[in-house]
Amino acid sequence: MSRPDLQTAGRIVVKIGSTLLQAGAPIINAIARDVATLCETGSQCVIVSSGAVALGRPRLGLASQTLSLEQKQAAAAAGQPVLVNTWEQAFAAHGRSTAQALLTLDVTDNRRRWLNARATLDTLLELGAIPIVNENDTVATDEIRYGDNDRLAARVAQLIGAECLVLLSDIDGLYNADPRTHPDAERIAEITRIDDTVRAMAGGANTAAGAGTGGMRSKIMAAEIATASGCSVIIGDGRKTSPVARLAGSECGSLFSPAVSAASARERWISGAASPHGEIMIDAGALQALRAGKSLLAVGVVAIKGQFMRGDTVRITDADGHTLARGVSAYDAADATRIAGRRTEEIEAILGYRRTAALVHADDLVLEQQFAKASST
Ligand code: GLU
Repeated sequence: MSRPDLQTAGRIVVKIGSTLLQAGAPIINAIARDVATLCETGSQCVIVSSGAVALGRPRLGLASQTLSLEQKQAAAAAGQPVLVNTWEQAFAAHGRSTAQALLTLDVTDNRRRWLNARATLDTLLELGAIPIVNENDTVATDEIRYGDNDRLAARVAQLIGAECLVLLSDIDGLYNADPRTHPDAERIAEITRIDDTVRAMAGGANTAAGAGTGGMRSKIMAAEIATASGCSVIIGDGRKTSPVARLAGSECGSLFSPAVSAASARERWISGAASPHGEIMIDAGALQALRAGKSLLAVGVVAIKGQFMRGDTVRITDADGHTLARGVSAYDAADATRIAGRRTEEIEAILGYRRTAALVHADDLVLEQQFAKASST
């Protein structure tokens, strides 16, 4: 049986834990080879890599002691350049450029940061580069916990609208018992719903499995976040030959199928936003474009009402004030007012910068009839 989720996904996030990263060049090179092949066949891939603390420890003479939070942050700062360089070299062998992106776990909570991070990652992916993401441990406000990057990877998958998240670990998926102590433990090839039975498997015998990378529990938490956003998740053993490619077959790893479609997850997300702060009034031509699934451009805007910041949810109305849609504005109210009714080419001259052609991107927009549907579910 095959897993189309990995073979046909437009966007894929691959997460590697500290233990794997330290395990040596052959493993990193094998992952890079598989990811480069996916890129050649049309997918856009992001790597979420742990390992900054582990790589930084020996460089600061902190190899064998228990570290304070500040020491972990210092170790991460010292290890991060090594980590990025490791990936840079591995992908250079396949003619691919990499780029470092340091994020925090709250990236999806703060809409302005979310828009900024998404725009950067989108641009890198469109330019053919492979973003190497890690948590920005210097500013992370919570204790650095192993396992954070599982959740970070799920947030990145949400952020870029990935169809598939691959969590590479040192265990080949979710088992009904710890396979190291129970030779008859069975791997679960496909999980269609994460319920208490699944959570119990991760919390019980399998707790220690993949300990260096947060254990199974944090992987199941990540799977819950990602599948709720319409992204499928595969957990597999990163030490095997062709560590990513092999997961396209159901003979290896565990696949968690998405709980909802990506489109309905997005609609629910926008619909669930706090009451819109402002209004964008649009003309008939713009409404037609929105109904055809296009973005809202400044040229179709008649007026701006109320105050809102970039990243706030706004109401999109007709000339009589009837709500037509809701969406996330890419510009604040003052700048939106200045570019209302103007062509995209004029925006830079008016504002001194041009962020994106769309005032509200099609992906950040829910038409009123969809909104009613999403709110009632
Ligand atoms: N950000 C940490 C590091 O790079 C790791 C967090 C994790 O492994 O989940 O060392």
